[in-house]
Amino acid sequence: MNAAPKPQPGILDIALYQGGASKIAGHANVLKLSSNENPHGAPLTAREAAREAASEMHLYPNTDHASLRDAIARVHDLDADRIICGVGSDEILHLLAQAYVGPGDEVVYPAHGFLIYPIVTRAAGGTPVAAPERDRRVDVDAMLAAVTERTRLVYLANPANPTGTMLNGQEVTRLADGLPDGCLLVLDGAYAEYAGDFDGGLSLAATRENVFATRTFSKMYGLGGLRVGWGYGARAVIDVLNRLRGPFNLSNVALAAAEAAMRDREFVARCAADNRAQRARLVAGLRDLGIACDASEANFVLARFADEDEALDCDAALKTRGIIVRHVPAYGLPNCLRITVGTEDGMTRLLKALTAWRGA
Ligand SMILES: *Cc1c(COP(=O)(O)O)cnc(C)c1O
Repeated sequence: MNAAPKPQPGILDIALYQGGASKIAGHANVLKLSSNENPHGAPLTAREAAREAASEMHLYPNTDHASLRDAIARVHDLDADRIICGVGSDEILHLLAQAYVGPGDEVVYPAHGFLIYPIVTRAAGGTPVAAPERDRRVDVDAMLAAVTERTRLVYLANPANPTGTMLNGQEVTRLADGLPDGCLLVLDGAYAEYAGDFDGGLSLAATRENVFATRTFSKMYGLGGLRVGWGYGARAVIDVLNRLRGPFNLSNVALAAAEAAMRDREFVARCAADNRAQRARLVAGLRDLGIACDASEANFVLARFADEDEALDCDAALKTRGIIVRHVPAYGLPNCLRITVGTEDGMTRLLKALTAWRGA
């Protein structure tokens, strides 16, 4: 029998990404707080747009995403020609690695950084380099110290997942300015909408050739299941990524829904305000129960326990009550559970379950 081909170096080193669970056997009314989804669902405007677009599912979608890019550009005051849309921001992160990283090249990211960063690095044959953090905060000096002449990309989520902590604008700028020529800083703004008055690094990407910003429709915009994200950067980078991008990467349903969601500023404002209120409630409730957590700038809170056993015990207790949160050993935080901020009712249910666990 003929042997099957061997995959490219690096691919078999990829640890399979595990999504947040969504089911518990024996529970009909599961509260899923494990994937940072919008607890209010998708905006009604986007659902309606998706329904309408579905009647055209026999037609190929457009390849230039002009209408969606125009909507994004208007809302964020950007140059539409410097926007690229992808199948989630994951695709953009992949394209960046595919375009700029090869065997022998290095990619730097923070030690508790998003698991997709080492995955896309290995997929491109590159070497992932994790820079230490300090008390679950990105350390710019450690990031710069990890950069060598072989570093092609630096990935940084701000606010970060799963810690929820954030670097201020000065620190991000210091990181960008400290990188050598030919090294691109990728600012992953998946949670930027939750961080108050913050542009997710878009202004830095607008003014610096070596900074690229990514955003997503999966969190605040409630469209995780449709898979739409976008990136903003120098024309030269956008041109490179567009050559790699599949021309029909986004379906007409996804394009229509994302455009409607982007235009629905009322939905975004309402969800942001609600997240702020419920996040404050969750943080206060955790601390009342003696469970430590850092201030979060995102739509989740990282609850910290004495050790991994205690975290697992709490996780199991929540599961028996139909609540799914995310244990995060894969992020180097085995004593932590990441809890997505839910609705008012959801947070009431969670805090009740945590109180019962503490009292048990
Ligand atoms: C959720 C998340 C994303 C978004 O991924 P999509 O592919 O757009 O759904 C990107 N970066 C981080 C850090 C995330 O947590």
